[in-house]
Amino acid sequence: MTAAILDGKAMAGTIRAEIAEQAARFTRESGVTPCLAAVLVGDDAASQVYVRGKRKACEAAGMRSELLTPPATTTTEELLDLVGRLNDDPAVHGILVQLPLPESIDELRVLDAVRPEKDVDAFHPHNVGLISQGRPRFLPCTPHGIQQLLVRSGMEIAGAEVVVLGRSDIVGKPMMLMLAQKAAGANATVTLAHSRTRNLPEVCRRADILIVAIGRAKFLTADMVKPGATVVDVGINRTESGLVGDVDFDAVREVAGHITPVPGGVGPLTIAMLLKNTLEAARLQTG
Ligand code: NDP
Repeated sequence: MTAAILDGKAMAGTIRAEIAEQAARFTRESGVTPCLAAVLVGDDAASQVYVRGKRKACEAAGMRSELLTPPATTTTEELLDLVGRLNDDPAVHGILVQLPLPESIDELRVLDAVRPEKDVDAFHPHNVGLISQGRPRFLPCTPHGIQQLLVRSGMEIAGAEVVVLGRSDIVGKPMMLMLAQKAAGANATVTLAHSRTRNLPEVCRRADILIVAIGRAKFLTADMVKPGATVVDVGINRTESGLVGDVDFDAVREVAGHITPVPGGVGPLTIAMLLKNTLEAARLQTG
């Protein structure tokens, strides 16, 4: 069997067009243009590419974006001041602090300082708590993009065995919370696997839907996949042979039923959901 490709790029285009339409209506009715402020500390090349992509997408959807670029030598206190100013700026609706921050900075303090109503990445403990209780203010962009991909592709999530490989606060943990909710697009039986999981290949083979977010090139091999399963590859790994995911794509494609490519899978959906959150943030703050 050769798996069907889940085309995240095309789906992201559809979602972005929907959001652009909603944003135009919101601006027409309220006179407010949603605005995302991106904070990019230092000169990490990959982060620059990500932030550029996010800002371009914002502008293409009719929203404003601001870029703040403190140097890598910035202190935690200076960054907290900057976040405080953005929190107080009524023209800014969403704040994105691009990760990773330089090691000298207390990342948790900075992320916790973002006002929950402007926390479009959904990293703030208030927002994580609301997600866990099934009444989200914002959903985190990557897991939300994956959920949209599954729902819009017609995948059966309710009752499915889902294995999420990787337990980061950005992808794995919120993905588990979202798919286990008693809610539409969820109701799955979710296993969260990580580096201490025993018999990992066996655990992965249980999955009807396997979501891999560990940051190890081509880690998931064909023997770890149940025939016909849906495989979502979140990984972005820069290797000598270019950008590759966490899934051994060519081999797994021969076993899986559906699979996302890298690039062109989860990445574009992450950006689309950031736009959704920015519009939602503007709505919340405009009453
Ligand atoms: P982190 O690096 O924060 O965490 C990695 C997770 O993988 C940890 O839970 C770790 O387990 C687990 N892990 C690592 N090695 C193994 C192993 N050998 N076996 C089992 N589990 C393992 O991950 P992120 O979620 O931040 O990122 C994961 C990948 O996704 C990266 O490639 C990143 O670039 C990409 N990414 C892509 C996005 C997109 O939009 N496409 C968005 C965000 C991330 P433990 O907890 O036990 O250490």
